[in-house]
Amino acid sequence: MYDLMIIGGGPAGLTAAIYASRAHLNTVIFEPEMDGGQMSLTMSLENFPGALPEDTGMDIGMRMAKQAASFGAATIRERVVSVESAGETKIVKTESGSYEGKYVLVATGSKPNRLGVPGEDKFVSRGISYCATCDGAFYQDGDVYVIGGGNSAVEEALYIANLGAKVTIVHRRDSFRAERFLAEKALAHENISVMWNTELKEVLGDAMADGLVLYNNKTDETFTVKKGDRPMGIFIYVGVKPQTEFLEGLLELNRGYVKVDENQMSAVDGIYAAGDIVDKNFRQVINACGEGCVAAMAVAKRIVQYD
Ligand code: NAP
Repeated sequence: MYDLMIIGGGPAGLTAAIYASRAHLNTVIFEPEMDGGQMSLTMSLENFPGALPEDTGMDIGMRMAKQAASFGAATIRERVVSVESAGETKIVKTESGSYEGKYVLVATGSKPNRLGVPGEDKFVSRGISYCATCDGAFYQDGDVYVIGGGNSAVEEALYIANLGAKVTIVHRRDSFRAERFLAEKALAHENISVMWNTELKEVLGDAMADGLVLYNNKTDETFTVKKGDRPMGIFIYVGVKPQTEFLEGLLELNRGYVKVDENQMSAVDGIYAAGDIVDKNFRQVINACGEGCVAAMAVAKRIVQYD
């Protein structure tokens, strides 16, 4: 019987694991993929306190996981498929096992959205990527198209442009959603240009992506961009989707997001949520960590029953 079962090993889950295991709670993290979650896909965490330019998101994720393990938190590399609440006992079922505990923290984060245009599925990993940190280097001497106008699109466009690629950001409106500081940096970058009011309609190619069909929604013009002599990369950053499907039926979700109280507890007693899956305004690594901390402390307080 675990004290706290944490689903998801991103910044929210790992911070909760650090606090909980350091408070001597018998703690387990379920994380089938890489420690650090989405944070691991970003090259630099410029706005995370204490992060230095040479620290990648992956480094910080690995360090958080190591820190949690040093206090005794266990990690199970299995994907959770359901959570059940049987009074004071919570049951977490994975693809291959069933685990019981007193409290559950769901910190499963989000995954990149697909655009849903023809050619997208066909050319994933064959010209299309959702991870600049993973694949940007393949296109450092190439022409890269980044689709989207949010923080992720602009930040990752900057990363790829700094590798040396010529980057075109394709955005459906005439201003970025990204924070002004990032937008200004991108607009001033010699390797970055922007196609405003432009939508990606189709990705062309045979074995590899080698062309884009684009539509300018201001001029009503459809045009094609073809690959030249240099490698062509397409990076899609059109928002993210919370990973909460497995909670349907257990929790009431708002567009997939979980409502929580000031202790990060959901409407079901003993089930907490933290990080990108929480229904809130701002999604940053720093508040994901803060929420993981609050949830772990709230659980520790209930287990030890101190005031
Ligand atoms: P986001 O903020 O939701 O931005 C998504 C972008 O994709 C928007 O520009 C949107 O256009 C565009 N888009 C959405 N659907 C589209 C479609 N069907 N066709 C074309 N374009 C489409 O998503 P995100 O950038 O992945 O960020 C997710 C969250 O993480 C945000 O809360 C963000 O602030 C946070 N984040 C923070 C940092 C940081 O602080 N350093 C870094 C990365 C992410 P419109 O603008 O027209 O809606």
